[in-house]
Amino acid sequence: MRRYIKKREAERFNELIYKAQNVLIISHTSPDGDAVGSVTAMQNYLNCLKINSSVVLPNRYPDYLEFLDTKTSIKFFSTDHKRTLESIDNSDLIIVLDFNQLSRIDELGSYIANTSVPKILIDHHPSPEKDVFDLVISNTEVSSTCELLYWLISLLEEQKSEILTIEGVVLESINSCDLTLDVAESLYVGMMSDTNNFANSVSSATLLMASRLIDNGVDKEKLQNLVFGGFGENRMRLMGHMLLNKMVILKKYNAGFIMLSKEDQERFNYSDGDSDGFVNMPLNIKGVFVSALFTEKKDEIRVSLRSSNNFSVNNFSKLHFNGGGHERAAGGKLNIKFDMVADYFLAALEKSYNECFNNN
Ligand code: 5GP
Ligand code: MN
Repeated sequence: MRRYIKKREAERFNELIYKAQNVLIISHTSPDGDAVGSVTAMQNYLNCLKINSSVVLPNRYPDYLEFLDTKTSIKFFSTDHKRTLESIDNSDLIIVLDFNQLSRIDELGSYIANTSVPKILIDHHPSPEKDVFDLVISNTEVSSTCELLYWLISLLEEQKSEILTIEGVVLESINSCDLTLDVAESLYVGMMSDTNNFANSVSSATLLMASRLIDNGVDKEKLQNLVFGGFGENRMRLMGHMLLNKMVILKKYNAGFIMLSKEDQERFNYSDGDSDGFVNMPLNIKGVFVSALFTEKKDEIRVSLRSSNNFSVNNFSKLHFNGGGHERAAGGKLNIKFDMVADYFLAALEKSYNECFNNN
């Protein structure tokens, strides 16, 4: 069986959480299924252990993920500065999930950096900002932060049962929290989202996790419908419009891109999450290995990048799009005029494509 968590990491994690009275759990800006799944899994797990916690996100999650926030208790910094800052002040341990650098939580990052309480990072992105944290559980081989959490919780609970068998006396005082259904559902959603429904980054360990979660009561069809089938009619119409009128294929670079303007967003009554998955679409075309989605926002252009070969979109984003991510899935932002994006992308591709495929 694959093990991603070191024994001493699990021990340190236990040390830190059992000392805490108020844990603050945080994930990244524009939270996706792995971000929301990992914070709700962590909160539900701590809840089962009878450890008090609260969750803060830089901004709101898309509506289709609301079902994970069962008590609608997650606070958003963007709309509720006061209460989120109170949560930070009241915390005596901070757990950050599914991001590697404090810059990924924008303004919230400086508040976190300025607190003196212990901090734990659990994440699957490359190059974590280790200096800021007292414990870093980081692994880029796993499909998702939720998968890493799954292995962490499994190990913690396994260690607990070892203690139970060796020291029978402790038996009644330690609560078993091995994959309660609320934790299992959250973990499954995170893993399913980050693998794009089992299409990318799935290892045998990921499938083992999925299998165990299903054995523990996860209804995979229910979750599949909530995550991939819970969109409004607008999104489907917008998708049709994007594919028909806005997708550009650059054969020379085996690449494709889609531009989602403010005008299109207004026309299709766009809300956050409606364009989830659009960036993957050009990759379904034979011969297309690199793909981008550019979304015009109020103050900037959001960039989403994917690849299905050894073209590193993590490096590509670091070099040209003020961002980063994983080798095959990355994001970033641009501050140029929206009608300059196509030329910018083409020039960036020209540089990086040649470096990647012609120089080595
Ligand atoms: P998405 O395209 O789904 O927004 O993001 C894909 C991946 O890239 C995610 O795993 C995310 O962590 C990373 N990512 C997205 N936006 C940014 C960004 O602005 N900066 C960095 N460093 N990574 C990002
Ligand atoms: Mn993730």
